[in-house]
Amino acid sequence: MKILIKNGLVVTINKNDEIKKMDILIEDDEIKFLGDNYNGNVDKVIDATNKVILPGLINTHTHLGMSIFRGTSDGLSLMNWLNNKIWPLEDKLTPKDVYYNNLLSCIEMIKTGTTTCCDMYFGVTEGINAIINSKIRCVYTRCLMDNDGLGDEKIKEFLDLYNNYKDKNPLLTFSASVHSMYTCSYEYLKKVKKLADENNLLLNIHCAENIEEINTIKEKYNKTPIQLLDELGYLQSKLLLAHGTYITDEDIKLLKNKNVSIAHNPISNLNLGCGIAPISKFVKNNINVSIGTDGQGSGNNLNLFNHIGYVDLLQKGFNKDAQIIESYDVLKMATINGAKALGLDNLVGSIEVGKKADIIILDMNNIEIFPTNNLIFDIVHNISINNIETTIINGNILMENHKLLLDVNIDDLKENINNILKKIGEI
Ligand SMILES: [Zn+2]
Repeated sequence: MKILIKNGLVVTINKNDEIKKMDILIEDDEIKFLGDNYNGNVDKVIDATNKVILPGLINTHTHLGMSIFRGTSDGLSLMNWLNNKIWPLEDKLTPKDVYYNNLLSCIEMIKTGTTTCCDMYFGVTEGINAIINSKIRCVYTRCLMDNDGLGDEKIKEFLDLYNNYKDKNPLLTFSASVHSMYTCSYEYLKKVKKLADENNLLLNIHCAENIEEINTIKEKYNKTPIQLLDELGYLQSKLLLAHGTYITDEDIKLLKNKNVSIAHNPISNLNLGCGIAPISKFVKNNINVSIGTDGQGSGNNLNLFNHIGYVDLLQKGFNKDAQIIESYDVLKMATINGAKALGLDNLVGSIEVGKKADIIILDMNNIEIFPTNNLIFDIVHNISINNIETTIINGNILMENHKLLLDVNIDDLKENINNILKKIGEI
């Protein structure tokens, strides 16, 4: 299948930061041509005149199964929310429920221009089937922890999943994810690190999210979370830290020049009263920063366009310095930096010949965003769902002109979600 996207303004996010009017030829799953006036035969033409074309956004921290928990963090701190709200509710979810919750999340991502996510949750086989059926790109895992005495069962569940699916679908890769240092024993953290190294997997963990976590780790180990990860050998592996809200200058010295990325989740951190991660310091020290939404329970939604403006504004305001970050840096965090964080930058994160066709088309001519005086600033701050017109993942057009092309009955899905809500009771 050859698809030609004609005459759009392409924000490539390539090494030369090229932004120019070009044609894009997609052949099957790959970008084959990028340049002026493609004249060959094609199966389908998308006219992108007056449209802006971006690489699909990359959300490096999700819990897709939490789509039904929007609004639950209102007025709650992280530990209160987890212990008294979320974990009791999650105990009532069956794997089939997670299927529907995940499907809902995947649709939200397709509708809002996210083409890749990095997910950690449970309900694994049903959960992964929803992702496969949605044709979205995902780094998937079973969230691991042993504070309930069931750590080994979870590792077995993960390994079964990994061995069953690792070569089945080109859109799926895996990470080994421990929930956090406060929900895992020292030995368990070591065990998961070994598992990740043996299978050459990205390690993924919630880290330094709020002050209570810092105090808990300090009390138990007399270390910062980063010092503990260093002792455990995590900093020698491919590592993705979600949050990093409380990372000190001394910690940064340990993180420098390692294969470590930090998934910044601004809305979740604000909602739960956690704070603001010092990402400008990470960037200054060449630590790769990507962006995540977290689950909808704390992050409100998976529309990454809603989150990226906060990244820009928070750093400027928090540091009292309007020049500390640029909109283009933020856009890179949501695209190529995300790809780097997930080890997928040879495949996605920019629009270049040879990369996979993960592409979104924005209509910048809508009256609510007209006129566009500063394109990248407007992309970072002013895109609404009305502007996100077309989403292509791995060469599959999953939304065109706002119309979802997935084979999903939305009314049935809503009914299933309503049944889950009825079953689990008051949220
Ligand atoms: Zn999270």
